[in-house]
Amino acid sequence: MADKILVIEDEALVRDLVVLNLKHAGYEVVSESTFAGGATGLAQPGLSLAIVDVMLPGGEGFQLVRDARDAGVRFPMMMLTARSEVNAKVRGLDCGADDYLTKPFDVAELLARVRSLLRRAAGSVAAAPKALDLSGGFSIRFDTGRAMTTEGEVTLSDKELKLMELFSHNVDRVLSRADILEEVWGMDAFPTDRTIDNFIVRLRRLFEANPETPVHLITVRGRGYLFRP
Ligand code: CA
Repeated sequence: MADKILVIEDEALVRDLVVLNLKHAGYEVVSESTFAGGATGLAQPGLSLAIVDVMLPGGEGFQLVRDARDAGVRFPMMMLTARSEVNAKVRGLDCGADDYLTKPFDVAELLARVRSLLRRAAGSVAAAPKALDLSGGFSIRFDTGRAMTTEGEVTLSDKELKLMELFSHNVDRVLSRADILEEVWGMDAFPTDRTIDNFIVRLRRLFEANPETPVHLITVRGRGYLFRP
């Protein structure tokens, strides 16, 4: 099911740009353009994330985020701030926002931040599973690194474990190679896309009864990989 994102922004051009790009990326998107509308919008069920402008008709986005946190809202919230709004970062984080982006922003960066926030949220909710069971009798224990595979019981490498753990937090969600690089290898190492493909080939040999027609680690052409246990 697509994540539902609320966009609260009064500038129509910015709002349309964000909404269209999020929809194009496959999210369900709802939007509001005022402080009061935003307050109502944040209270609706089923939201996965909110993007909140600072200067809104009727009040400040900081207050919306603070009120939502006080009301028990746990999903990630990202502030949109104008460059002139000094200390916006500090104020945003103080009031309970998880991230902020300065206008004008790059759409690709906005989408990357959204993906990252959603992944982190999914990860914290799932709270690091101890084990992962896959159909076909395969399984992985994340605490010991031992796995039941086509080659019998083997010990996975740290990177293989991290990659499978990332997949296990993102069932049925496409992960781009860039997402995987960032989450598994971090920003300080620069393996190539080919490195990831090689890991996938290896993991398919271990966890797919028929690696040529994978049912767990599925290639989504032009986008990345999708995991189904
Ligand atoms: Ca505004």
